[in-house]
Amino acid sequence: MRIRHLSLTLVSVLVCAAAVSCSRPRGEAAGAGNVVLVTLDGVRWQEVFGGMDESVLRASAGKDSITDSVTYKQFSGASPSERRERLMPFLWRTFLVDHGFIAGDRNAASQVSVTNRHWFSYPGYSEILTGQAHDDSITSNDAIRNPFPSVLQFARRKLRLAPPDVATFASWGIFNEIVESERGATTVNAGVTPYESPAPEMQVLSAVQRETPTSWGNTRRDAYTFRFALDYLKRAHPRVLYIALDETDDWAHEGHYDLVLGMLQRTDGYLKELWDTLQADPRYRGTTTVIITTDHGRGRTVDDWRKHGKDVPGANEIWMAIASPGSTRRGPWRDHRPLFQNQIAATIAAALGLDYREQNPQAGAAIALGAKSASNE
Ligand SMILES: [Zn+2]
Repeated sequence: MRIRHLSLTLVSVLVCAAAVSCSRPRGEAAGAGNVVLVTLDGVRWQEVFGGMDESVLRASAGKDSITDSVTYKQFSGASPSERRERLMPFLWRTFLVDHGFIAGDRNAASQVSVTNRHWFSYPGYSEILTGQAHDDSITSNDAIRNPFPSVLQFARRKLRLAPPDVATFASWGIFNEIVESERGATTVNAGVTPYESPAPEMQVLSAVQRETPTSWGNTRRDAYTFRFALDYLKRAHPRVLYIALDETDDWAHEGHYDLVLGMLQRTDGYLKELWDTLQADPRYRGTTTVIITTDHGRGRTVDDWRKHGKDVPGANEIWMAIASPGSTRRGPWRDHRPLFQNQIAATIAAALGLDYREQNPQAGAAIALGAKSASNE
């Protein structure tokens, strides 16, 4: 799986015998850097920027008085910034303060939207990964192979990587079809699927995922997906890793707002673990772009927050958070032109030193990540 890297290393060793400076960070080998993409299914910008929505919790609980509930006590706060920090402390106190930026707070005139007209999952993920809405071709969440190649395939081809170097771990089984137009082009572990690892605890988790079925089709709990992805990151060191979490959408459809908030807080803990793992590894530290976003929004009101789709106003409204080694931008990003979901593929490619227009000239433009560059602002 690493034959090419091995031969490069051998060449380096031979050359280095006569050279003074021989250290070459992995990121400079072919194209620059690594990318980790994380998607949180159907997470509203309202919660990301404002924390718990009291009116939704009240409607979800089905009673007027919620102040004695565990969820209220856990997530209430006097201001949006206080509430969001209680919900996602790593994102707001560490990721966005020291490393990255976030866009999509419509209360602060920061807009991020999908360009597809469907406003549900497969079209959203396909737009993220191919850089374009394909409204007439991708019209359902059915297990149909994506006809359009993804930025994951593009990265593998252009950087001449092996399939294990570009990997997806997803809770939802349909990601087998979404992420690549050619089966096996990259590494995919999606839905209730065995995960092979030499670690005994991973072998236990891989077996137990079958013993904890969900009522959501071929979908496993996010805990399995995250644990497998983190184990893979530490062992296989992929150049591009995609982690697609799902439970936030499932609990919302079922009307369990308390479980949506609980999942979002656990996800924030996952993001912290992921970040700490990247920072502790010299292969990733200082060379890795992390992109966190969602496939679609949801309704804005107590009556339609459970739902999304083209008939639900607001379900096209999304958000994105990005930390990149070359970026000097921090915290909430304001005063920018509207951003779109179809720009993420090109942004991933650019973070790897590639121009995504080579694969898809119709794709949205890469987002300028650094404050010094004003081309996209
Ligand atoms: Zn959904």
